Amino acid sequence: MVALAAASGDHGYRTRYRACPACGRDNAATAPGPYSKGDWQVKSCGGCGFVYLENVPVYAELAVDHAWEKSAPAEGAARRAENPVLQAMSKGTRFRLHWFKRARLASLAQRYVPPGMVIDIGCGDGWQIANLPGDYVRCGLEISKDMAERARQALEPRGGFVVNAPAAEGLRLMPEGKFTGVVMRSFLEHDAEPMATLGGVRHALAPGGAAIIKVPNYASLNRRVMGRRWCGFRWPDHVNYFTPASLKRLVSQAGLEVARFTPLDYAPTSDNMWMVARKP
Ligand SMILES: [Zn+2]
Repeated sequence: MVALAAASGDHGYRTRYRACPACGRDNAATAPGPYSKGDWQVKSCGGCGFVYLENVPVYAELAVDHAWEKSAPAEGAARRAENPVLQAMSKGTRFRLHWFKRARLASLAQRYVPPGMVIDIGCGDGWQIANLPGDYVRCGLEISKDMAERARQALEPRGGFVVNAPAAEGLRLMPEGKFTGVVMRSFLEHDAEPMATLGGVRHALAPGGAAIIKVPNYASLNRRVMGRRWCGFRWPDHVNYFTPASLKRLVSQAGLEVARFTPLDYAPTSDNMWMVARKP
């Protein structure tokens, strides 16, 4: 997608306009939806219904200003100030579920990702991929320079490598078919170019290789109950709001097939959903 406009709003960030990242429709004339916040305009596509942030921070600033290691603590503080009790409860739940979630990634990898090279998109400091059990060479792709450096220190001594680049660009740099696995855990909701990234995943995966995807589920019950206080809303860090249907649609459009997406993987009682996609 091309940057059509750059503007500076009340938030002080330079942004660029996006057409619908799922179908390409121009929704500039559509009124901002109820989940907009200040100048951050969350739109529901008039063509395909996909919910997304229309004006996204430009990538150059994302690498230095919006990198999650800087914005996440601020976001947490803002949420606690808004509703201290709910946020404290939700934090407790996250800690309890921590081990379960890690076990889920590990068990999906064990079942669907053949031995070989695996790359974690948005790898942060590399802890997640470093701790993935199995017979893998562990690699990472990370837009934050500081985090990429930390990931390098964790992964390079064990034979892996880390690329500091936006996801779609970084994946296109990889030799075709190099990886047996791609991990995108809590990544695609941040990505201004999800179709380009999924295309890059298809390029980087070997035939039979699998991508494990975890994203917030916009169709969750909690979003309907909590409305704009739902934990899946983060302005402007989350730029795509997937439902089970739209996630399936984008993955198929990118030329990947759905290897696993059971009703348990997208239960409406969970804030998140998991999918395993495969390169045919
Ligand atoms: Zn659309």
